[in-house]
Amino acid sequence: MQSGKIKKIWELLNTVPDPEIPVISVVELGVIRDVIFSENSYVISITPTYSGCPAVKAFQDDIKVCLKDNDIENFELKIVYSPAWTTNWMTKKTKQKLKKYGIAPPSDTVICPQCDSEKTELISEFGATACKALYKCSDCLEPFEFFKCI
Ligand SMILES: [Zn+2]
Repeated sequence: MQSGKIKKIWELLNTVPDPEIPVISVVELGVIRDVIFSENSYVISITPTYSGCPAVKAFQDDIKVCLKDNDIENFELKIVYSPAWTTNWMTKKTKQKLKKYGIAPPSDTVICPQCDSEKTELISEFGATACKALYKCSDCLEPFEFFKCI
């Protein structure tokens, strides 16, 4: 019963999009660390991505709304800071989704998501949000955002 519900919670969480990158869910982003049942409530452990990222607050609210809409009331969100979130927690599939969305996924080499060129130049350390940098491709000349590695 409880394990079935935990599975359901994971499924629901997988429908909550990252507020900044709507094509990937908070589960795919790797911020949901664990869901356990403890003392009559479901404890959802969350590790924020970039500290001070305003999205952290936004997706906590989205998670609360999503679970309540599905009649799950007895839960709590637990913020876990250690170990710190890293872009390594993103799966390969998530990175492919990012690329398709037009954001260069975290990697040692910044590759243009449009034409796969490695000839790219940094325009600004900060894109629309602190977790992304703004780059420009020297081949297709398209600007794009790069999800920074941490
Ligand atoms: Zn390009």
